[in-house]
Amino acid sequence: MTETLTLTHFIDGKAVSGTPSTESLNPSDTRDVVARFAEATTDDVNAAVAAARKAFPAWSAASPEVRSDLLDKVSNIIADRREALGKLLAREEGKTVPEATGEVMRAARIFKYFAGEALRRHGLTLDSTRPGIEASTYREAVGVYGQITPWNFPIAIPAWKAAPALAFGNTVVMKPAEDTPATAHALAAIIHEAGAPAGVFNMVLGRGATGGAIVNHADVDGVSFTGSQKTGAIIGAAAVARQARVQMEMGGKNPLVVLDDADFDRAVQCALDGAFFGTGQRCTASSRIIVTAGIYDRFVEALAVKAAALKVGPALDAASQVGPAVNERQLNQNLSYVDIAVKEGGRLVTGGQRLTLNTPGFYMSPAVIADTQQTMRINCEEVFGPVASLIRVKDYDEALAIANAGGLGLSAGICTNSLKYARHYQHNVRAGMVMVNLPTAGVDYHVPFGGTRRSSYGAREQGFAAVEFYTQIKTVYSWS
Ligand code: ADP
Repeated sequence: MTETLTLTHFIDGKAVSGTPSTESLNPSDTRDVVARFAEATTDDVNAAVAAARKAFPAWSAASPEVRSDLLDKVSNIIADRREALGKLLAREEGKTVPEATGEVMRAARIFKYFAGEALRRHGLTLDSTRPGIEASTYREAVGVYGQITPWNFPIAIPAWKAAPALAFGNTVVMKPAEDTPATAHALAAIIHEAGAPAGVFNMVLGRGATGGAIVNHADVDGVSFTGSQKTGAIIGAAAVARQARVQMEMGGKNPLVVLDDADFDRAVQCALDGAFFGTGQRCTASSRIIVTAGIYDRFVEALAVKAAALKVGPALDAASQVGPAVNERQLNQNLSYVDIAVKEGGRLVTGGQRLTLNTPGFYMSPAVIADTQQTMRINCEEVFGPVASLIRVKDYDEALAIANAGGLGLSAGICTNSLKYARHYQHNVRAGMVMVNLPTAGVDYHVPFGGTRRSSYGAREQGFAAVEFYTQIKTVYSWS
C-alpha cells in the first residue's frame, strides 16, 4: 500500500494530465505519499464545462434506461472493488477500514438507488380550469452541474451528488477535495469504465481556485457544495449573483440531549459513537452533549472511561477504532479547541493530547470536556475532531433551549424513554434531522439529508428529495 498514484483529470472522456504539483498524504503515516496530481487551470475547467455542455443534449434526451443502466453498472463495479477502494479511502482520509469499506458500499448503494430513480422522473396531468385545455408538468434536466466536495466522505459525497445529477439527465463537472483526490479519482475512473459517454461526467483536480473557476463559470447551471461555512458563503454569493441554482451543506454543532430517564448504556454508546467515530470528522457528529442533572456526573464518568479505552491508531491497522485527523491543520485546530475550552472554564476529563505512535501521523486522544457553558467557543464553533463537550442542565426545557442555541441546525439527538419528551423534541428542535435514541450521525442513503438555518442552503440532497435540485419543472398547456 505504498505505491504513489499519479492522478489525472477526466475531461471529455479522456484522462488529462499536467505536471504534478500537489500531493495527498496518508494521515496515518505521513511518509506515505498517496497521490500526486496537477491542479486544474482555468483552461482545464473551461474545457470540462464545454465538454459537459456538448454532452448535455444527447444525455438528457437518452432513454432513462440508458442512464439507469450506467448507474447500475457503476454500482456493481464499486461493490466488486469494495475492499481495494476501502483500503485506498482509509489510507488517504484516515478513517478505519471498516468505516471506509462501509462508506464505499454506501456509494455503491447510492448509485443503485439512483439507477431506479432515473426511471422515476415524474410529471403530473392536471384538469385545467378552462374547458378543452389540458395542463401538465414534467421534470426536465437542467444542464451542467458543478459539484464541489469535501474530504471527510471522499466517495459517498461525490456519489450522492453525481448519481442524481446523472440519473435525471444532467452532465457534471466535479472538483473533489485536495486532501482526498485519489479516492474521488477512482470513482471517476469507474464511471468512465462503466461506459459514461464522453463529457457526461468530468472531474478536475485542484484546490479552492479550481472550485472557484467552476462556480463562477457562466455556463454552469447549478452548483452543489459540501464544506465549510466560510467557503459556502463565498460560493453562495457567487452563484446567486449570476442566478445559478445552488445547494450547500455546511456542517453543524449537533446537540445530543440525554435525559435522566434514558437507557443509560445506550445513551453513553450514542454519545461515544456520535462524538468519536470517524474521528469526529462528520458534519453530523455530536459535539454538544447536554445532560440533565440527575445522571450528569455518572454520565460524564462513563463516557470518559469509554473514550479513554478507544484504540487510536493507523487507519489500516485492524485494531484501530479511531484514526488520525485528516491533516496537520485539522489536528492543530482540534488541539487548540481543547485548550480554548479549558481556558474558558471547561474541565478536561480525558484525552485531548497529541499522540506519538509508531508511524508519524496526525493522532490525538479522544477528548471529553465537562462542565462547559453554551456560550463558550467550544459549543459555538465547529471543531470537526474527536472532541465532545458536555453541558449540565436542570431539565428538559433547559436542554431544548440549549440545543436550539447558535445558528446551525443539521442533526439533533435525544436519548429518553419518555414518549412525551421525544415527541416534543422532534417537533421543536431546530434541525433538519432528528435522532431518537440514536447517535446524531449515521443516516440512510434513500431519505433526504440536510439541515436548517445556516447548516444548509437550498434544496435537500439525497433520496427522493434529490429530484428537486437536479430537475426543473416545465408546465405545458395544450388545446386540441
Ligand atoms: P475544509 O476546510 O473542510 O477543507 P472547505 O470548505 O475549505 O472545507 O473545502 C471544501 C471544498 O471546497 C474543497 O473541495 C475545496 O477545495 C473547495 N473550495 C475551497 N475554497 C473554495 C472556493 N473559494 N471556491 C470553490 N471551492 C472552494
